[in-house]
Amino acid sequence: MTGLQIAIIGAGIAGLSAARALQQRGIGVRVYEQAEQLAEVGAGLTVTPNATHALIAMGLADDLARLGMQPARGGARHWRTGELLVEFERGAGLNQRYGAPYVQIHRADLHEALARAVLAHDPDSLLLGHRFESLSQDVEGVAIKFANGAGAHADVAIGADGIRSAMRAQLFGAGQPRFTGYIAWRGLVPIDRLPPGLVDPPSCISIGPQHTFTRYLIRGGRVLNYVALAERSDWQVESWSIRSGVGELLAEFPQWHQEVRTIIAATPPELCFKWALFDREPLGSWTQGRVALLGDAAHPMLPFLGQGAAMGIEDAMILARAFEVSASHDEALRRYEATRIGRTSFVMGKSREAGLEYHRADAEDRATHPHTTAESLGLFTYNPVLAPLQGI
Ligand SMILES: Cc1cc2nc3c(=O)[nH]c(=O)nc-3n(C[C@H](O)[C@H](O)[C@H](O)COP(=O)(O)OP(=O)(O)OC[C@H]3O[C@@H](n4cnc5c(N)ncnc54)[C@H](O)[C@@H]3O)c2cc1C
Repeated sequence: MTGLQIAIIGAGIAGLSAARALQQRGIGVRVYEQAEQLAEVGAGLTVTPNATHALIAMGLADDLARLGMQPARGGARHWRTGELLVEFERGAGLNQRYGAPYVQIHRADLHEALARAVLAHDPDSLLLGHRFESLSQDVEGVAIKFANGAGAHADVAIGADGIRSAMRAQLFGAGQPRFTGYIAWRGLVPIDRLPPGLVDPPSCISIGPQHTFTRYLIRGGRVLNYVALAERSDWQVESWSIRSGVGELLAEFPQWHQEVRTIIAATPPELCFKWALFDREPLGSWTQGRVALLGDAAHPMLPFLGQGAAMGIEDAMILARAFEVSASHDEALRRYEATRIGRTSFVMGKSREAGLEYHRADAEDRATHPHTTAESLGLFTYNPVLAPLQGI
């Protein structure tokens, strides 16, 4: 279908990916973002081959190569002794096996690259300062109202407005996200604050009772990114921007091996944040008439498999391909939902299970019982550029 106009609410990684993939198929796109300025959080992101396939097809191969790191190896360490219990092949071998790279990148770098690609195609396609308030739809199309008093019309509207999606609330009711009992700390450490040779293998998770600590290099190896996860029941503010004291985080990982404690201690105080993690139950349907959800708005998940953004990028490619081959918006949205809902519900469930496994299992057993990963679940073998579309 060409000549269509699609409104996307939310210019996160998922919304911008959808805009880019739709533009490539001759579909007109307007992305409406509530923020006055485009920004992503100051943190890293692992983008696995199932998602890099799509980003490369969106024209971002050079950006991924220039801005991302492709670690040669990954591993899992014992939380107390630091012993390397499991090693994972990454780098060229993994690229060959799945036909696309495993990339670790600063979120802002990927976000900017997507925005640049979208704006290069159509400089008017991104409207900032537009907070979605409500929509109505009829046989003619969708009418959207924004908090700034503006309105918009489109043939189809896509809600990519994140875990607290106002589009989702309007379409499927305002059920609140569930506090999962996990707290995440996120830190960025300039590499020159760490002893030489400390960061080996370049990508590593340490797993211990009720805690995990994942760290990897971004920005050409100049910055180390980490996510530290712990269980807590008493803190429920969901935000990327709550500052955390480095001392508080050190106290959370008291007997952990030296690498973990050295990294935490080296974190500049202004680069250490914490927030509570929420998720939701999978939806039975994401589509209503001319409107559908995408990314975290449709399927927010825990970060234990590192697949939240990947699922949004996969959604974007499948949505665009569905419009390319369908004769009507009904058919396209039906194909999109039918192709995506099973896979994303599966990954939501497995992300929860992985959290339970990582945080409860005895870390001593790791060498003989390798833990569940996105790769061991077969998630890397999916290629959204070629995967069959369903629901015809
Ligand atoms: C600790 C942690 C680590 C993670 N690590 C990884 C990882 O390594 N790999 C991975 O694939 N995933 C990871 N994820 C998941 C990933 O961060 C998310 O799944 C992804 O960022 C969601 O993107 P999105 O575009 O769907 O939503 P968001 O990033 O939330 O974007 C939504 C956008 O919509 C805008 N918006 C909201 N409401 C409105 C409105 N009413 N009107 C207009 N605009 C609106 C927002 O301002 C925002 O720009 C991690 C998550 C966490 C918490």
